[in-house]
Amino acid sequence: MRPLRWALLGASDIAASRMLPAIRGLGGEAAAVLSGSPDHARAYAAANGIERATTELDTALDGVDVAYISSHNPKHAEQARAALSAGVHVLCEKPITLDLREAVGLIHLSRQQDLVFAVNHHLPCSSVLRTLASMAREDAIGSLLGMRINHAFLLRERLRGWRLEDVPGGGVILDITVHDAAVIGLLREPPPATAAAQTVRQGPWPKGAPDAVMTVLRWEDDFLAQTHDAYTVPYNSSSIDIYGTEGSLHATDALTQDPIGDLQLRTSSGMSSVEVGERKDLYAVSVGAFTRAVTEGEAPAVSAIAGTQAVAVALAVEEAARSGRTVDVTDVARVLTLEAPNSS
Ligand code: NDP
Repeated sequence: MRPLRWALLGASDIAASRMLPAIRGLGGEAAAVLSGSPDHARAYAAANGIERATTELDTALDGVDVAYISSHNPKHAEQARAALSAGVHVLCEKPITLDLREAVGLIHLSRQQDLVFAVNHHLPCSSVLRTLASMAREDAIGSLLGMRINHAFLLRERLRGWRLEDVPGGGVILDITVHDAAVIGLLREPPPATAAAQTVRQGPWPKGAPDAVMTVLRWEDDFLAQTHDAYTVPYNSSSIDIYGTEGSLHATDALTQDPIGDLQLRTSSGMSSVEVGERKDLYAVSVGAFTRAVTEGEAPAVSAIAGTQAVAVALAVEEAARSGRTVDVTDVARVLTLEAPNSS
């Protein structure tokens, strides 16, 4: 079979640093890159060995199989619609859109067009987190009571741009809490019933979007999840703890872009390390699953539905922090279930 030809919509850091190596490592070709700036598009294509540089969406999509969208967050929906309408499969960065109904409309469009539409959440591709979720689902720690996600780090200097700006798609919630929601989605389906949250602006930069948030999520069966997401914490190891009636699971250092981290199980027999299998590059896992979804009809690593549910949680957290109220997420989950009943 001929290699898949990819268009990069967005001349971004993540496309160059993580996705191009993964795409090429799996035999894909980078056919085009789209940027709003002609100079940036040309320089990016030259630096990364990409055939065609353009500022026109139609030109970028011409003759490609897949669009990988890693532009600014507010552009994701419009670019996904253009690609799907042009008959091109879409692997979109998180957050899939900033509007849930728009996401549902795009999911419908992908079905009408018989195209794969998936989200590039990397954390559900981690063998540590996959093992953690499957053990929790398969009763290794009894009935599930709650979980805590510690996802606080210091934002690297080169990333201190739009993430810190008080603009649509900026801030720690749509950047990091949405990742937590995708991880929680590995073990809890549907999304939580309610979300409560508080945000602050605590970093050593001009005040913009919230740069730290703590949330509490509650499910209808009284399972609770707590998250701490921050750009402001210089010395920390990320972690996830899941508590059950018969034991607990503890993952350390696994909320990263690299295939690292450890998993431990604590039960009445004591504490033991859990073998998590081969630690593959997370982006290669995502691109590999997406490629097989296109060529062999397998499921992608994170479907558009799962990505939309993660955004639903993030938007509820934003609303909870803004209003100071506990926000109902159930209605959102119901809308998604009614309007888009099958995963793509
Ligand atoms: P960047 O800030 O590197 O790029 C975002 C956009 O900024 C680009 O698409 C480009 O716009 C513009 N831009 C960047 N550099 C220049 C430049 N020198 N001149 C002109 N314009 C420039 O974003 P990230 O790579 O940090 O994030 C991109 C997307 O990927 C986001 O949606 C983010 O949420 C997601 N992401 C996902 C990660 C994951 O692990 N799944 C990790 C990191 C990010 P244009 O489109 O016009 O080229």
